[in-house]
Amino acid sequence: EHLYRIKGWGEPYFSINTVGHVTVSPEGDRGGSLDLYELVESLRRRNIGLPLLIRFSDILADRIERLNACFAKAIARYNYPNVYRGVYPIKCNQHRHIVESLVRYGKPFQFGLEAGSKPELMIALATLEPAENPQNNQSPLLICNGYKDREYIETALLATRIGLKPIIVIEQLKEVDIAIEISRQFGIKPILGVRAKLSSKGIGRWGNSSGERAKFGLTIPEILAVVHRLQASEMLDCLQLLHYHVGSQISSITVVKDAIREAAQIYGELVNLGASMQYLDVGGGLGVDYDGSKTNFYVSKNYNMQNYANDIVAEVQEACAERNIAAPVLISESGRAITAHHSVLIFDVLGSSEVPRTPSLPGTEKEHLIVRNIRETYNLINEENYQETFHDAMQFKEEAISLFNFGYLSLKERAKVEEIYWACCGKISEIVKKQDYVPDDLEDLEKIMASIYYVNLSVFQSAADAWAIDQLFPIMPIHRLTEEPTQKGILADLTCDSDGKIDKFIDLKDVKDVLELHPLKAEQSSSNNVDSKDPYYLGMFLVGAYQEIMGNLHNLFGDTNVVHIKMNPKGHQIEYLVKGDTITEVLGYVQYNGEDLLETIRHRTEQALQDNRITLEEAQLLLQDYERSLRRYTYLVDSH
Ligand code: PLP
Repeated sequence: EHLYRIKGWGEPYFSINTVGHVTVSPEGDRGGSLDLYELVESLRRRNIGLPLLIRFSDILADRIERLNACFAKAIARYNYPNVYRGVYPIKCNQHRHIVESLVRYGKPFQFGLEAGSKPELMIALATLEPAENPQNNQSPLLICNGYKDREYIETALLATRIGLKPIIVIEQLKEVDIAIEISRQFGIKPILGVRAKLSSKGIGRWGNSSGERAKFGLTIPEILAVVHRLQASEMLDCLQLLHYHVGSQISSITVVKDAIREAAQIYGELVNLGASMQYLDVGGGLGVDYDGSKTNFYVSKNYNMQNYANDIVAEVQEACAERNIAAPVLISESGRAITAHHSVLIFDVLGSSEVPRTPSLPGTEKEHLIVRNIRETYNLINEENYQETFHDAMQFKEEAISLFNFGYLSLKERAKVEEIYWACCGKISEIVKKQDYVPDDLEDLEKIMASIYYVNLSVFQSAADAWAIDQLFPIMPIHRLTEEPTQKGILADLTCDSDGKIDKFIDLKDVKDVLELHPLKAEQSSSNNVDSKDPYYLGMFLVGAYQEIMGNLHNLFGDTNVVHIKMNPKGHQIEYLVKGDTITEVLGYVQYNGEDLLETIRHRTEQALQDNRITLEEAQLLLQDYERSLRRYTYLVDSH
């Protein structure tokens, strides 16, 4: 358990049961749980192939409830005289079932949506439920962020007519002029906000989303210009919201505090300038603890959701009390913290390759001196000389390659040298494992000796951030957890790209280069045996935020199968199944038509038949295979 740190990142949703399987408790501490391995097996019996993304709808519900409960608790604790109204930023995961579920689960909390682009605005307009009386404070908010053209602003403004409560957040100066013009044209009084570029900087990977040179938002002089333009149009009462976003995955609570302190002052100044301020929107940034370390700068955080809510509420409360102004409705746009936990990607291992641990090629009397030398080195390795013999073995291997390149060593002899070299590394790494101190020059030995586990997955499609920005996700086997994982490996995906691998894993201290895994059962290790009766399943956890939409079609591996699982009094049920892309579908994205391709192949077989280059049976088989493949999943098909 400690190897995978599941307690750190998984609680209260993921744990390990007594038979060594990962258990999921989608309703946190309150509800039932299910065995993830059994679930995967039962989905495969329904012909739902791997890789497979499993979404737990109840985790989404639990996250929304938790976030609201934390703010409610903070509001009660500090006697904050106003309310919290969260919104879900659609950009984080736009899939329909997710947005619709969040709107449904968010209803008791008047949870709204945030759109960052025109397509997201279209989703929001059709998904949020119009209020019967939009004037009352019960309507969920629709925060309209992102760069806007006339059409965006017009659509958002007209949405007030169908009972929605859009707030147009000015991100660029020219947007205010368009908003003024359109509101006059239709006689609609808009609710406007401004996004401020705070000088308090975020830290971490997304830290440059704020600061004076950030891409988004208005500088203080620009905010003043908005105030003046609205004043000149007698519309300053429309300015009601202040928004900022210092970056996603804020790792330090100090950054949260600095930002809210600065924003609360700007808010107070806007009140003084005569704006009818009502809302303070703190953006996203609430972090997820991907490794459970509470320390790692990029993938962890030094605070919890309650600390986050407390600090925001307390800072605003204090600033407003000091100025004697009304406290605003607090809005946050947490996406990552709401969606990350609810998706797990399950994939199978197709085979593995290991470096040889013992020399298999027999020694002979007359073998080349270099082979004899390295063989002798192998035999001599012991606890006293392991560091020195490592360098000897390395030197002999390098010499052997030079000799080979000059034609003085045969391929067979070179094979012997390489095999014995790996065997030396294996023997030395066993000794190193027992030492309290690992010499610097042997630190990489574990990495060099790592097995490669070939997995049925595209990193580019399913874990884009692992490739693009070295994001770490917890990865672990979902079964066999009562057995000791004796192998150390890295994961290589299906793409023909050397970047299509995962060789950085979460660790207590920082990051580790290898993952503890179980040896594959006999038929799996005989490379790429997809017909295995004894599969080895790995899970990549906390992938519900951003990964799906960032994924790309490298090598034309498409969207994976997705199932939504919902708990019910009898256990659980499959709420939705979204089939992954077929080969025809991905070919369509790059403008190939499956039927046309098939027709070309048919033509070619006819030609070959005429020229007697193929038998009719072979031609039929080729066409059948081609046609069937067009309808298939883009990943390796398992026949478990
Ligand atoms: N709001 C805005 C304006 C954003 O740009 C983002 C994403 O970076 C978010 C909210 C969501 O942030 P997070 O996923 O960290 O909650």
